[in-house]
This record gives sequence, C-alpha cells and structure tokens, in this order.
Amino acid sequence: MASELTEELINEQTDGFHLVIDALKLNGLDTIYGVAGIPITDLARLAQAEGMRYFGFRHEQSAGHAASIAGYLTQKPGVCLTVSGPGFLNGLVALANATTNAFPMILISGSSDRAIVDLQQGDYEELDQLNAAKPFAKAAFRINNPEDIGVGVARAIRAALSGRPGGVYLDLTAKVLGSTLDIETARKSLIKVVDPSPLQPPSPASVTRAINLLKKAQRPLIILGKGAAYAQADEEIRRFIETTGIPFLPMSMAKGVLPDNHPLSSAAARSYAIGQADVVMLIGARLNWLLSHGKRPLWPETTQYIQVDIQPMEMDSNRPIQAPVVGDIKSSMQAFLQDLESHGIQVSEDWLEGINQKKQKNIEKMAQRLNANPHPMNFSTALRAIRDVLGKTNDVYVVNEGANTLDFARNIIDMMKPRMRLDTGTWGIMGIGLGYAIAATAESGKSVVAIEGDSAFGFDGMEIETICRYRLPVVTVVFNNGGIYRGDPENSKPSPTGLLADARYDKLIEAFGGRGYHVSDTASLSFALEEALESRQPALINCVIDRTAGTESGHIQGLNPKSGLSK
Ligand code: ADP
Ligand code: MG
Repeated sequence: MASELTEELINEQTDGFHLVIDALKLNGLDTIYGVAGIPITDLARLAQAEGMRYFGFRHEQSAGHAASIAGYLTQKPGVCLTVSGPGFLNGLVALANATTNAFPMILISGSSDRAIVDLQQGDYEELDQLNAAKPFAKAAFRINNPEDIGVGVARAIRAALSGRPGGVYLDLTAKVLGSTLDIETARKSLIKVVDPSPLQPPSPASVTRAINLLKKAQRPLIILGKGAAYAQADEEIRRFIETTGIPFLPMSMAKGVLPDNHPLSSAAARSYAIGQADVVMLIGARLNWLLSHGKRPLWPETTQYIQVDIQPMEMDSNRPIQAPVVGDIKSSMQAFLQDLESHGIQVSEDWLEGINQKKQKNIEKMAQRLNANPHPMNFSTALRAIRDVLGKTNDVYVVNEGANTLDFARNIIDMMKPRMRLDTGTWGIMGIGLGYAIAATAESGKSVVAIEGDSAFGFDGMEIETICRYRLPVVTVVFNNGGIYRGDPENSKPSPTGLLADARYDKLIEAFGGRGYHVSDTASLSFALEEALESRQPALINCVIDRTAGTESGHIQGLNPKSGLSK
C-alpha cells in the first residue's frame, strides 16, 4: 500500500487532502468534475498534481450531471467536487437526478465548521449539508476524522454502485481536510473496495416462472430500459431477443442496446405493440410516467408482466407483476438463456406481421415529414439532416434535451450502438446537456453532438467555455425557434414561454475561441455539422427553425393540469 500514498510528507505525517486523493485513486476513481473554491481548492489542485483528471466547470449542477453520466457510462461512480453551502446546493440537483435515474455518482462537498453550523452561529456558507442531502441521495455520509477517510470513501463507493445504483453524498469538513495524521495510521486506514457491485443472480424459480409465462404468451413484447443499457449485458440481451424472436421496444436511453434498425425493433409501432401485447417483459425499465404507469388508455388491463430489476421494491409499484425476477440483468439474462435451451419459445407470425405492418405505415408517414423541404426548417427536416450526417459513422454520442427537440430527435435519430444516447431521462430534466456532453467525451474520447432546444441550452450554456477551455470535440446544435415549445408572434411582448427571437447563440462560442455556425437550411446544417465533427474542435451551430414549429409541452401536453372551470 505504501506506494499508494502520496509523497509530500512532513515528519512522516499526511493530511486529509492527501488521504482523500489516495482513497479515490486506490479505488480506480481517476476523474473529478467540479468547481473549485473554499474549502476544496487545494483538494482539486492536489488531485490534478497527483495525476487525476480534473474538469473545472462554471456551475456545480453541470459538473454534477457530468459525474452522474460518467457513472452511467463506466459503472464506476462519477465524482463531483463542490464548495460548501450554495455550491453544494447547486450540485444537489444533479445528485437527486442521479438517484432518480439510478446513475452511480458521489458528490463530495467541503463543509464549514460543524460546531458553528450546529449552533447556527453564522459560519461562512453555513448549511447542515449532510441532512440537506439525505432526501435526495441514496446514502449520505460525513467524515469527521481523518482516519475515517478510507472508510468514508469505501462506503460511498459501495452505496453508489451496489444494488440499484444512485447518488451518494460525502461531506468533508474543512477541519478533516486540514487535519494531519501519522503515515502509518493513514496507510492502514485506506480501503480498496473488493467487488463493489456484486452480481445478484435471480432465483431459479423466478426465472422458470417467467419463462413459463412467456411460453403461454400469444403476443409477447420486451421493453428495454436504461437499466439494461447500464448493465452492459448487450450480448446476452441480443441473444435472448434473437433466440426467442420476441419483438422489443427500447426506452430512449436504451436505444442502441440493439440497433434501432433491428428487424425485431417495434419502436415505430410503439402504441400498437404496447396496446396489443399480452405479456410484457420489462428489462431494466420502470412502469413510471414514461410508460403511462402501465395503465389505460395506452395499456390494456389484462397485460401480464415479467419484470427484471435489481431492486426488489420496484415490483408491483404500478401494476401487479406476475413474474418478478429480482437480480442483476447480466446474470438474469444468462439464466434466461440457459432455461431457454430446455424450453423454447414460439412467437406467432401473426403478431410479428401485425407489428411490421404498423411499422411500415408509420415509417412511411414519417418519411413524408422528413423529406419535405420547408423554409425555414422545422424540427423534422433539421433532424433529418443531422441524422444523415451521424448515420455515416454511427459513432458519435448524442446528447438530447428540450421538449419538441427531444421528442422529435428521439424518434428520428437512430442509435446503432449501446449507451450512446444520453437524454433528460426519468425526470425530463433540463440543463443536463453540456455536462453530459463533456463527460461523454471525457470518458470515451469520442465526439459528441448535443442537440438542444434553445430553452434547454440556456440552463447550462456557459459550459461552452468549459468545452472550449479543454478543447473538447463537442458540437452543440441549438434548435432555435425563439421559445420554450415555440416562439412568440412577431412584435408581441415576451410571453411566459417566449425567448429572444433571432438570438445568435453561435456568437457566444466565438467569444471563447470555438467555431460558430449560423444556419437556416438543411444543406448548410449538414455542411456545418460535418465540418465541425471532422475538425474535432468545439463548435456551436445556431440552427434556425420555424418559430411556429413546436407544440406546447411536446408529446406530453396531457400532463398540464386543466382548469376545473373550463368546460
Ligand atoms: P427507463 O427510464 O429507460 O425506462 P428506468 O430508469 O425507469 O429506465 O429503469 C431502470 C431500472 O433498471 C431501475 O429500476 C433500476 O433498478 C434497474 N437497474 C439498474 N441497473 C441494473 C442492473 N445492473 N441490473 C438490474 N436492474 C438494474
Ligand atoms: Mg425552443
């Protein structure tokens, strides 16, 4: 272990700053996303000096989102570092979002003097951070003694990764960071976590029960969620689907677990498949609002469910689950594949034929919209141009947020590889875009296109400076219709959903040395995107679309409450 401890030791002593870095590095955590300031500036400096990668952001929320998606992509908790009080609170949105989406991350915040905070005597950035974090975190810990740093970091890693992953808060008091400890005690206090997310194979009986239900099914359907993508069981899932011939439907971030052009994908016949299926197998997907809670009118009351999930409590949360399979998805799919050998499942030709017919019809309808050539562009035509460029390699990460921008892009842009589409997820949160984009390229080295509504871009737009500072290959495309949902009519005063018409977002990135493009037709959009991707340099495309394009709340208008007074 001696080699794991850092050099700068005076009189055989080390301190909290060094020990935190040692503990993270010992556990293979090599990247920090953060915003520096009191009391963690030296922690960030030291991390960088000791060979960790440090990405300094302009706002903690973006740094936190970056950490959370790094966790999703790598199955290692992403680390976000913030200052105390308000900086911590800014990071908390990302922590809550990580917990909600089951992404593993650790938010590490420095905190003020506990004695003063607890007596509410008005310390600098005074806040009871540990208790503030608890409702939003899967777990929250505070380290009060330097000799507990090893345990604190180990507990945070286990909590973030084991079972259903989530966001963990780790509170580091300024005092602990500055405290010294003799080197021998320090050395013994560090923990290298063994097997932080142990496989959890399902019980054989639960697998047999599920297979028996599938065998009886006339019209089975598999729904893949982002838990399936996270589990990195791509090969097992593909084999299961192809062996059984059961059609599947990917939730948005599960697009690409199997390629979107797979013959068994029923994405283009979503409502039909859900409405007609008699047995639905959920793999790492929850029956939450994104699936209409499994309720009418989308779902018949007779649907029977198999649910594969690592979280036992998820079962029966919205609808009765006839065949719960509690386990990690990789082990579960392996168990299913083994059981299949002795059973065999037959999917009726009629069922596949029905889905295919519906698919064809919907694809034709969509093609008409995509192939139109209106001026200015609308969502469909602009996205067709982007789709065609991305389809040349299928190797660019797609980050996506907005309302209509999200709905249209999800349907138009096919994903061919797993975990390459990152979007607003379970909460429909805005402001994830550039944080996700930065982490996606930081963790993979690949290029990223962030397709952003103009409203969504506003939440974290200053992170284009971060992108330029680190010269990251991120192309931000702002779908500029001058408003949330859509723009205001000309010469009207700003409505609650209006944004500046004709804003030149491309000029913002030029201020930081990035490449700006201003486009209003599909040919210029294709050209700009190709050139920007080719250069692997920071770029922003201000993509002007029809200000009347877009509907209120996109596809989820029904979630707006209606006045009880209206008839
Ligand atoms: P989506 O929004 O794509 O439908 P959700 O976030 O609702 O997906 O669901 C993901 C589910 O996957 C969660 O219930 C989570 O517990 C589960 N999950 C995450 N990782 C694993 C894993 N390795 N094995 C099994 N289930 C997992
Ligand atoms: Mg808009």
